[in-house]
Amino acid sequence: MQIDLHTHSTVSDGRLAPAELVARAAQAGVEVLALTDHDGTDGLDEARQSALDAGMRFINGIELSVTWNKRTVHIVGLNFDPDHAPLKAGIKSLQDFRKTRAREIASKLDNAGIKGAYEGAQRFSGGKMLGRLHFAHFLVDAGYAKNVRGVFKKYLVNNKPGHVSGDWATLEDAVSWITQAGGVAVIAHPARYKLTRSKLRKLIKEFIAAGGQAMEVVSGSHCVNEVNTMACHAADFDLYASSGSDFHDPDYPWIKLGQLPDLPAKCKPVWDLF
Ligand code: AMP
Ligand code: MN
Ligand code: MN
Ligand code: MN
Repeated sequence: MQIDLHTHSTVSDGRLAPAELVARAAQAGVEVLALTDHDGTDGLDEARQSALDAGMRFINGIELSVTWNKRTVHIVGLNFDPDHAPLKAGIKSLQDFRKTRAREIASKLDNAGIKGAYEGAQRFSGGKMLGRLHFAHFLVDAGYAKNVRGVFKKYLVNNKPGHVSGDWATLEDAVSWITQAGGVAVIAHPARYKLTRSKLRKLIKEFIAAGGQAMEVVSGSHCVNEVNTMACHAADFDLYASSGSDFHDPDYPWIKLGQLPDLPAKCKPVWDLF
């Protein structure tokens, strides 16, 4: 079965509108799809309706931004009730932080001689949620770097002119917003954080203590070795395993919507919980 439980739309930093994303997923043969925009659920209704029309199973999703041990970690929520009040309040607090952060990023870039970054980034977000990827697209377009990867390295990460630190949600809060809303919390792309083995295991333990039940084993950003390593961690901690491309943009050829390898045999698929 073709399943993709981690994707983005224009509601956050993806390139396709929710309905366009679903259409592309249908074309790619996806049978179960979750839309997991950063810190927002505004695309779920449109995506669900389109999925229904296309005869595809749709799972409510979100990707929450968390600060854990001074790092940013992403927690995906799946199959929750988007109208649950504490979840909605949590999302609102993250969106408020995004707004202040976007102003601060623009003002820091301005100090570095780059004018008009706020409006520039807004052109790429379509007036919706502002993320660093929108600033990256503006900076590439304005000629400050050759590509998005280069622009992050030069401007948008720790110790660079456009970097703003600050606190996202705590791990405990993010997990409990999801679980209280009836959903399943999933550690997103665990290999991406470049944690040592012991730090990763500490993250997993704290995540489980908070009520988390799953981790992404197959991810568009995991190589084969990382898939196998994460499958071992999931098995050790008796966590369910998820699979998602983290698709953002049809122009990023290295991440394809819905084209994912199978979970290793020892994994317990997270969709058994749905
Ligand atoms: P934000 O949540 O606004 O801080 O932005 C994080 C998002 O930026 C990620 O979800 C990716 O979409 C994108 N991103 C982060 N680092 C990179 C990178 N090195 N190259 C391309 N995109 C990146
Ligand atoms: Mn993103
Ligand atoms: Mn992420
Ligand atoms: Mn993502």
